[in-house]
Amino acid sequence: MTSKLLRGRTLSFLRWPEAIDDHSAWRYEEDGGLLIDGGRIIAAGSYAEVLKKAGAGVETIDHRPHLILPGFLDAHVHFPQMQVIASYGAELLDWLNKYTFPEESKFQNAQHGRRIARLFLDEMLRHGTTTVAAYCSVHKSSAEAFFAESHERNMLNIAGKVMMDRNAPDGVLDTPQTGYDETKALIAEWHGKGRQLYAITPRFAITSSPEQMEMAGVLCREHPELHMQTHLSENHAEIAFTQELYPWSRDYTDVYERYGLLGKKSLFGHCIHLSEREADALSQSGSVAVFCPTSNLFLGSGLFDYQRYRRREKPLRIAAATDVGGGTNYSMLRTMDEGYKVIALNGEKLNPFQSFWQLTRGNAEALSVSDKVGTLDEGTDADIVVLDAHSTPGMRLRMETVETLAEELFLLQTLGDDRAVREVYVAGRPAKSAIVA
Ligand SMILES: [Zn+2]
Repeated sequence: MTSKLLRGRTLSFLRWPEAIDDHSAWRYEEDGGLLIDGGRIIAAGSYAEVLKKAGAGVETIDHRPHLILPGFLDAHVHFPQMQVIASYGAELLDWLNKYTFPEESKFQNAQHGRRIARLFLDEMLRHGTTTVAAYCSVHKSSAEAFFAESHERNMLNIAGKVMMDRNAPDGVLDTPQTGYDETKALIAEWHGKGRQLYAITPRFAITSSPEQMEMAGVLCREHPELHMQTHLSENHAEIAFTQELYPWSRDYTDVYERYGLLGKKSLFGHCIHLSEREADALSQSGSVAVFCPTSNLFLGSGLFDYQRYRRREKPLRIAAATDVGGGTNYSMLRTMDEGYKVIALNGEKLNPFQSFWQLTRGNAEALSVSDKVGTLDEGTDADIVVLDAHSTPGMRLRMETVETLAEELFLLQTLGDDRAVREVYVAGRPAKSAIVA
């Protein structure tokens, strides 16, 4: 394997930045170097230091004056919804029935699933996202298509076949038994194959019968190393319907709690309208609340109280995500821009270092993969994004007045999109420039 040396302005986080001047929370090199070999970062530091370790003759890729960061992670996204995104005029439950379920029923056709999986991962890489936690459709073939495409690209992705057996059209339903059997088969075939990770994926309490929820709990007990992903407390009508379907439950979170679905690898999309008891239950179990700002604004679901969740006595672990196709953009930069506004509407601010921590190390920690991705640490996988804050005329002009790294990051978040992503590396291989348009 030939090694290569990336040169540029490297930025990687060590921990959550408490404040905008909390310099010890990140490592920034104005002239930085990353030595990559065998898909991993084997040396990181100043270019001069790393060059010394690499020895003369190493291939150098010069990305100056651009920023080199760990690839972004998206903690909640629906790959079968690429033709649902930008659907007009509905709140959550109507939006599912009117747009999402009919669209996902097309994934009965395995060929359609393969086409969309390919285009989806292209789109993620174009936007600088190197790892996702993805929902597939209910069809086993959709998960096979996703994993095959992800494995082919050597991406680290987390995904699962959705389990849903009621309150949706026949074309998108399984049964408690087929949902269990197909999930088992997919775990056996894909979990741990290359960089692929399986997530047990009951869509949410409304579309799973109590029998299926039991089965999801059994799967979690049989495979405690796996992720579990579902939706929680997104919208008031959803919460009320869940209470009707599970009349014994104390609250929405209690439904998942009783079936044994809370835990450190459990990812709960949305978590907007939680009671204090629910937030405590998520905190105590180490579960992750996933913030999906563009989706929450688009569907009119509500404002996730990011800073309050972080600051409470029993804080929540938080990830950030696009939630495409309820979300309205594939870009994690656009996502954090909208996230900033949601947090502002709650009377708080998220500083740019906190934002970029969240997109990289923060999401990697929330997804329990920070030993592999989300930093530029030596020994981790070389999943990397190269960002250009001069990528549009408006950004170039604004950059004339930018003086600090914090200002540059904030500009990237506020004005940046896929055009700001100059290159992406997946396990050390250039991946954006390799996409055939
Ligand atoms: Zn979702």
